[in-house]
Amino acid sequence: GSFQTFGFRPFLQQALKEKGFEQPTTVQERLIPIIQKGKSVVGQSQTGSGKTHTFLLPLMNQLDMQSDSVQVVITAPSRELATQIYEAAVELASYSEEPIRIVNFVGGTDKARQLAKLSHEQPKIVIGTPGRILDMINEQALKIYTAKTLVIDEADMTLDMGFLADVDQIASRLPEKLQMLVFSATIPEKLRPFLKKYMANPVIEVI
Ligand code: AMP
Repeated sequence: GSFQTFGFRPFLQQALKEKGFEQPTTVQERLIPIIQKGKSVVGQSQTGSGKTHTFLLPLMNQLDMQSDSVQVVITAPSRELATQIYEAAVELASYSEEPIRIVNFVGGTDKARQLAKLSHEQPKIVIGTPGRILDMINEQALKIYTAKTLVIDEADMTLDMGFLADVDQIASRLPEKLQMLVFSATIPEKLRPFLKKYMANPVIEVI
């Protein structure tokens, strides 16, 4: 396989080149074309499979650079995991000539400062832990109703840590026609009602 087939914007191709990513991993090869079609996906794949770039690359490729509204929301069950995704996204964005505003809403960061920033400009991409993202929405500061895609990374861990209700609240504030990308090592029974509620015909890939 080759990254060429995805038709990424030049800045992403440059990023891949500089990062030394020569070819897509299995999960990237299988899921990037499906994500590019706007479909919802349940990806059962492990850490280390390249799943972060599986969603970041096509979603960043499809950003509307003209619009200063939230287009993508990504949740992760811990501050460390959210920050890893945030750092990967910021790195890709650093190759773009047009600025791409990305935020990392996790506990232990300066909420007042983040609230003040939101009053000036909404980010294109929101990454964070479910509780803090919901907090920023409830403060009437973060406006996510414009988002087209919700990514739930490590959904099984999100469930285990008791954050699924928060993710449900986030999802309920998004447009009905939502692309939802769920990544999870396992699909526990308790996750299924949630998936059914938001995903009509997901593509399910076990990789
Ligand atoms: P992840 O599964 O997203 O945590 O990624 C695991 C590691 O693989 C990270 O260090 C990524 O930067 C790296 N990676 C992701 N995709 C590729 C690729 N296509 N080629 C080489 N390395 C990659």
